[in-house]
Amino acid sequence: MVKIEENKFYTEHKKIEVLAAAPIVYIPLSQHLGKICDCLQVKIGDTVLKGQLLSTAQAQPFAPIHASVSGKIAAIQSWPHPTLGACKAIVIENDGKDSAAPEFGKNLSPEAAGKLTPEQIRESIFRAGVIGMGGAAFPTHIKLNPPKPVHCLLINIAECEPYLTNDSQLVAEKAPEIIAGIELEARCFPLQKIYISIEDNTPEAIAVLTKELAQRSWKINGIEAEMAVLKSQYPQGGEKQLVQKILKTEVPRGKLPFDVGVTVQNVGTVYAIYEAVYKNKPLIERVVTVTGGCLTTPKNLLARIGTPVKYLIDACGPLKETPVKIIAGGPMMGIAQFTDQIPVIKSTTGIILLGKREARRAEELPCIRCGACIRECPMGATPALINQASNKSFWAEAKTYGALDCIECGLCNFVCPSNRRIVQSIKRVKLEAPR
Ligand code: SF4
Ligand code: SF4
Repeated sequence: MVKIEENKFYTEHKKIEVLAAAPIVYIPLSQHLGKICDCLQVKIGDTVLKGQLLSTAQAQPFAPIHASVSGKIAAIQSWPHPTLGACKAIVIENDGKDSAAPEFGKNLSPEAAGKLTPEQIRESIFRAGVIGMGGAAFPTHIKLNPPKPVHCLLINIAECEPYLTNDSQLVAEKAPEIIAGIELEARCFPLQKIYISIEDNTPEAIAVLTKELAQRSWKINGIEAEMAVLKSQYPQGGEKQLVQKILKTEVPRGKLPFDVGVTVQNVGTVYAIYEAVYKNKPLIERVVTVTGGCLTTPKNLLARIGTPVKYLIDACGPLKETPVKIIAGGPMMGIAQFTDQIPVIKSTTGIILLGKREARRAEELPCIRCGACIRECPMGATPALINQASNKSFWAEAKTYGALDCIECGLCNFVCPSNRRIVQSIKRVKLEAPR
């Protein structure tokens, strides 16, 4: 793990601003890991309400999608997508009324919430379309029903990606709701311990959480809760890295945290769980960090799902410099975009606009066999050799060097003095190699 320039100063401590709904939104049918939501519940010309169900899938795993504004379905068409390149999307012309579906936002009392069974909690989360909002995008109702018993819940606020502050700001402003969300989750497992992992560069979030937990005598749903304050480093926010760091337990190759009795949950997801159960609110908006040296006023924005990214950029403008790169996500793991027309999706953590200096892309030189990429790889892979094998289309060989274990953290690219495009070559192996 390494210490890298954080560049969080653009938005740290900036209060979350509610972004006005855009005049038109593009809601992709695929925003999660799993089956595409192609069982449409609406057609072109229909009038829809905010929070109304738009589409589901034929089989699990999936997370249903909902209207983020009220208005008219103008089209159902292919549209740019931040992770897939393009995907069919439901286009809604906003009528500006923000009329909500009948049950949307209906409050549930703490007493009523306290009586919900684990199955009812998972059902509410499923109906709300909640997914892993740290970027993983796996449907949460499935994660809360693992095939093996889980005894430890690890809440992930270790926002190790540079530039991003959306999670820490959410904690600073919504700590009681987040604790309520953790409490709901805790009731889904036979837990013995809850850890809340957070980096030491977020003192405001640490202070409010400490206060909340102290008021509860460091117990959530009767289970001991502990805050693990970590020295900020990259890439410790990955699930396996956190389990290793906090529990000193290695998640074996090809296995997931539940195989060692742990589940890891991003804090944005925990807040969405709270809203799903207590507010009957589907996942139709999220906090997005819009940042980078090109913007005059970088912000943390609460944006509706489907909002074109250009709309967010305009809210943080005017531009000081024309961006040479727009990234959806963090600069290490995010994806460079070819258009600012991509919509915000459920897993969009940030939008980063980089100018010429910040986006410097040096010439790719031959590998000098320094071994830096191998030393730093958190997954124990051999990036230099994967890179060589991939460039020759030797897929089987690339797999033996650990290509399929790669979490695409970008650290090998970062430390390489020869500017090798290692992650890009690993992505090619994952796409091309026979399983
Ligand atoms: S090989 Fe993958 S996991 Fe290892 S450093 Fe490179 S991107 Fe990260
Ligand atoms: S860091 Fe770059 S130059 Fe060094 S071994 Fe890896 S690929 Fe080669």
